[in-house]
Amino acid sequence: MSRGKMRSAVQPVFSIVLTMVMVFAALLLHLELTAHFGLVLPAFLLFYPAVFAAALFFGLWPGLLATGLSAVLASIWISPPSGQFRTEKPSSVIALALFSVIGVLISMMAERHRRTVQRTSALEREHALQAGDARYRMAFQTNIDAIAISRLRDGTFLEVNSSFRSILGYEPHEALGKTAMELDIWKDVRERERLHEILRLQSSCRDFQVQFRKKNGDVFWGTLSASLVQLDGEACILSVLRDITQTKLAEEEIRNLAFFDPLTGLANRRLLLEKLRKSMAVNARRHLKRALFFVDLDDFKKLNNTLGHTTGDLLLRKVAQRLTACVREVDIVSRLGGDEFVLLVEDLSANSEKAADEARAIAEKILGRVCEPYQLNGRECISSCSIGITIFGDGHENISQVLQQADIAMCQAKAAGRNTLQFFIPALQTAVNARATMEEDLGRGIKAKQFLLFYQPQVENGKLIGAEALLRWNHPRLGLLPPGDFIPLAEETRLILPLGKWVLESACKRIAAWGKNPQTASLSVAVNISAVQFRKPDFVEAVLRVVERTGANPCNLSLELTESVLVDNIEDVILKMVALKSVGVRFSLDDFGTGYSSLSYLKRLPLDQVKIDRSFVSDILGDASSAAIAQSIISLSRAMGLPVIAEGVETEEQRVILADLGCHSFQGFLCSRPVPLDEFELLLPGFAASAAFATV
Ligand code: C2E
Ligand code: CA
Ligand code: CA
Repeated sequence: MSRGKMRSAVQPVFSIVLTMVMVFAALLLHLELTAHFGLVLPAFLLFYPAVFAAALFFGLWPGLLATGLSAVLASIWISPPSGQFRTEKPSSVIALALFSVIGVLISMMAERHRRTVQRTSALEREHALQAGDARYRMAFQTNIDAIAISRLRDGTFLEVNSSFRSILGYEPHEALGKTAMELDIWKDVRERERLHEILRLQSSCRDFQVQFRKKNGDVFWGTLSASLVQLDGEACILSVLRDITQTKLAEEEIRNLAFFDPLTGLANRRLLLEKLRKSMAVNARRHLKRALFFVDLDDFKKLNNTLGHTTGDLLLRKVAQRLTACVREVDIVSRLGGDEFVLLVEDLSANSEKAADEARAIAEKILGRVCEPYQLNGRECISSCSIGITIFGDGHENISQVLQQADIAMCQAKAAGRNTLQFFIPALQTAVNARATMEEDLGRGIKAKQFLLFYQPQVENGKLIGAEALLRWNHPRLGLLPPGDFIPLAEETRLILPLGKWVLESACKRIAAWGKNPQTASLSVAVNISAVQFRKPDFVEAVLRVVERTGANPCNLSLELTESVLVDNIEDVILKMVALKSVGVRFSLDDFGTGYSSLSYLKRLPLDQVKIDRSFVSDILGDASSAAIAQSIISLSRAMGLPVIAEGVETEEQRVILADLGCHSFQGFLCSRPVPLDEFELLLPGFAASAAFATV
């Protein structure tokens, strides 16, 4: 119990006890005066202590009432109704009058005193209250949050602080007496109902994040904390509102960085994957089809390189806008990076064919829009795109599968001549899967040494001069594979680098081994070199290292290059060739006649031999133009002093014609197919015999 409350409870008891004490004291005094001095006071005077006490302790009116009552009783005692007037005590009347006056005076003085005391304590309380309220008011007014007190029953604002104006735009006088509904502060009134529901259940709520409307109509995010309070017996809501626009903006910024492409503002890969995941979860249940469009600009790299990256970026932004305009707002347009865009269009027909028609219409719209001219930095540019489409939605596919399908279809669209659309067909997937498996197998195969070299004899005037090393893959599942089945993939994946290194090493070991035997010491080995290998800056060093390590005679090593190597920086090619030729390595130009190089161009290269492509050889008998090409290659090479070898010679007739034209070196099934080493070595004695025969 507080001290104030205790005092107010004790006071009446104290007053009554004191009154009784005074009455008792008056009685004692009366008895003492009578006993010792014989002084007999009027008995009514015994009331007066009680009268004074009443006046002192209970205020004016109780005091006057007690005085009046005492006076009446005293009058009755002095003049009883029996009519016997007690005149023998005239002093009693005087005493009565005197004590009545004293009673009235005491009542008045006590009242005055009581009032003074009351006023002083009220003043003190008020002062104390004001001192506290000054503190609270300051906290209330200077708070950066908008604080308001509103009546619960009708929402009328009873108090608002100055931040209410800075946050919501209303001056206190504009808000006071009005309700939040009248001021239209809630952006969504249902939120207000939600808040009231929470307050009803929990009587307070913290960090209620909602959007509010300012006086000027601007909508902002705020966090509201509110609690129910009692003010003057009225249920009120004390609410504290903080503007969290900046926090929300920062959150938004973080979200943007994480989920949007900064260049175009489109969704990025992460967001696309997220949307795809959600879409798959939801739509699988709805059985509606969806389409994923993989859009890739045609020749974007060229534009980027010729007009600069700023213009390239501008084009990407404009394309992004056009793509967005081709679909509905609910659909997702994303940029995966570079010039690759992916669109996710939902709610197509449940019927696959209808869905495909709808998707085709969208893709055609995109093709049309992307083709329209662009104004980029004051110049007009044109662009086009290739679109791969996949329709999905039966609930069995997964995200990466769907993305890959659209990607495959897009590559098909590119292959089909660009500026076109292509739907994904499952056969493509099979091919892609097979390729992926092959790639894995290839990597494993190199490590597991599943490769071997076959050798095919090269003959000059009936004499064995060497062999071409031809790669074979002993695939654990598919058996012996020819290089045509895996070299292109190895080149694409650059696995040709470790593989080519192995071929070179094996060939050099063979040269070294043959070098030890006088019968085979002069045999050369031709090794096919891919452009990817030759382009490596350390190609020369790598070859020299292998030659040195294996102890092969570099003069017996012939490297076969195709024209694809020569389209590069010709000076660099020459430098590399010269460096290797300086130690004795020789160079042969493979598949000659199939490329586009002119002979004069080839003249600049330090070649040791040209190989007429087998396509001319096979047609040499039937096709006049093939024969003419073969003839001109042979005669021009001879004029340039370049030895010529014909490959793919299968028949004696072909060999005879070639010999007639002046080509005496050949390689082909006529002599032998490419064979494993042991078989090749079995051929050697036969060659020695025929060579002996030839010289005879
Ligand atoms: P290529 O360099 O033109 O090799 C000659 C190809 O012609 C070989 O095919 C050989 O088997 C074939 N051939 C030889 N004589 C005849 C004939 O009389 N008639 C017919 N129809 N074909 C004949 P193969 O072994 O399948 O090699 C194909 C291609 O694979 C090679 O063509 C070469 O470009 C590439 N290759 C082979 N081994 C390697 C290698 O170790 N590294 C690289 N980078 N490529 C290689
Ligand atoms: Ca070759
Ligand atoms: Ca060839």
